[in-house]
Amino acid sequence: MSSEAPAVAAAPTAPAAPKPAPPKLNPVRVAIPEEPVAERTTDFREVLHAYSKEEAILEAKRCIQCRRPWCVEACPITQDCREYIRLVAADDFDGAARVTLRENPLSTCLCKVCYHYCEESCVITKKGVPIAIRHLKRAALEFGKSDLVYVASKPKGQRVAVVGGGPAGLMAAWELGVRGYSVTVFEQEARVGGLMQTIPAYRMTDADVQTDRARLKDLDVTFVDGTKIGKDQPLDRLLADGYQAVLLTVGTPAHRTLGVPGEDLPGVLPALRFLKETNAGHPPKVGKEIVVVGGGDVAMDSVRTALRESGGGRVTLVYRRGREEMPADHEEVLGAEKEGIRFLFQRAPLEIVGNGRVEGLVVQSMELGPPDAGGRRTPVPVAGSQSTIACDTVIVAVGQKADLTGFGPELDLKVTSQGWPEGKRAGFETAIPGIFAAGGRSVVYAMGAATDAANAIDAYLSAKRGEAATARPDPFGGKGTFKLPPGYTAPIRS
Ligand SMILES: Cc1cc2nc3c(=O)[nH]c(=O)nc-3n(C[C@H](O)[C@H](O)[C@H](O)COP(=O)(O)OP(=O)(O)OC[C@H]3O[C@@H](n4cnc5c(N)ncnc54)[C@H](O)[C@@H]3O)c2cc1C
Ligand code: SF4
Ligand code: SF4
Repeated sequence: MSSEAPAVAAAPTAPAAPKPAPPKLNPVRVAIPEEPVAERTTDFREVLHAYSKEEAILEAKRCIQCRRPWCVEACPITQDCREYIRLVAADDFDGAARVTLRENPLSTCLCKVCYHYCEESCVITKKGVPIAIRHLKRAALEFGKSDLVYVASKPKGQRVAVVGGGPAGLMAAWELGVRGYSVTVFEQEARVGGLMQTIPAYRMTDADVQTDRARLKDLDVTFVDGTKIGKDQPLDRLLADGYQAVLLTVGTPAHRTLGVPGEDLPGVLPALRFLKETNAGHPPKVGKEIVVVGGGDVAMDSVRTALRESGGGRVTLVYRRGREEMPADHEEVLGAEKEGIRFLFQRAPLEIVGNGRVEGLVVQSMELGPPDAGGRRTPVPVAGSQSTIACDTVIVAVGQKADLTGFGPELDLKVTSQGWPEGKRAGFETAIPGIFAAGGRSVVYAMGAATDAANAIDAYLSAKRGEAATARPDPFGGKGTFKLPPGYTAPIRS
């Protein structure tokens, strides 16, 4: 008999817990309601309509609430869209509105015009159409309590001047206002909003700017409209007048020209003037054969506005590169196509001709060469390929630039390739201590830059008080300060 102990039967191992099934992706977006093309092109009625409550909840339920919030990482102002989508899905629209406004004081504008960088990073894109993150922001505001008012922290007793009341200036005023600074925003125009005031009314209106601005009413923010710093009042006077820091958010209010003969003929319109005056209710007269030159968002707004103003005329877009290279937002290009805009690609303007008024645009055909530093293929002229497009109106939409009148070289400003000036030092500080300058290529990018500048201004002014800089407080006066959402790793910039 064996002295060995009888073998002990191995204890049965508990069956491994089944791995949770990966969340099912629903690739199909709830369609965004849209005004029919036939009706919408004769006036400036809104093109995209809000979701109904039920549609918004259905769309929000497609979000799989990623552990790593790619969408938030891609938002230049780190809007916690994952959280407001979760709240919409749970039918808590008040909560969703509060979360939206907590990080985004221009939510009413952005829910209509943001280029939704978040959606480009949404994981659903791998299988289908990304979550309609921007449109759910709109649902949160439309169905939730969105008439909230921001609350200032204890007054800091320090004054900041913000020059320019565009998105960057408004964001900075909010960032500094909720921290308890006394802010004055100087704006050269009669209304704040900056280039948002040129966005056509079928996308957003001044009422949206005013709705966002109204939430700032209890902050110590004063708006001085109709004052151009550098002309009506010298920049250095601001520091002498008791402002302890100055932020220049002067953007790009001037237009770039084509630089071709005939640009001064009657019938040639700079896009910014055309759009601004149309919004203000006194549109410049356009004819029946309109050509818009350019391939960006301003060109898209110009072709669609010109169509609405032309009373049944024909609108042609002329762009020197191909469709793939167009910098315009895809959604806007599709909108223009649906409305019957004619696109002529790979044509560069050479001359505007006419006898006392525009009669045609001479163009040269281009072929696309190797990519440039930005990755876009370079247009190369095709010899002997000139032609004339008959037209009575030419709208020039080839970019904007800053107007730096009164801002001297002592600031050592960097002018970006898209035209706005910024400070070269950390936090966008200029060469003059206490003067900062920032801007951006879209509303939300300008706001993101303004946040960085406002943080630097807070650090600068806190040091003067002998205190440490603080994170943004709860803008509704609650406890706690701004925190990145769980799972956030690093910003994604497109
Ligand atoms: C037609 C058009 C459509 C657009 N559509 C979109 C869109 O759909 N989505 C999007 O995200 N972006 C869009 N953009 C881009 C966006 O509007 C800009 O990127 C954004 O407004 C930049 O903000 P900002 O505050 O840096 O500058 P700006 O908007 O240019 O604001 C600067 C402000 O400073 C004022 N100012 C300038 N100099 C002085 C001075 N010396 N003294 C006092 N005030 C001064 C100007 O009057 C202006 O109000 C569009 C732009 C245009 C032109
Ligand atoms: S602000 Fe723009 S980028 Fe940011 S979450 Fe909203 S839609 Fe997306
Ligand atoms: S990336 Fe898309 S699916 Fe993921 S949390 Fe954001 S919105 Fe939802």
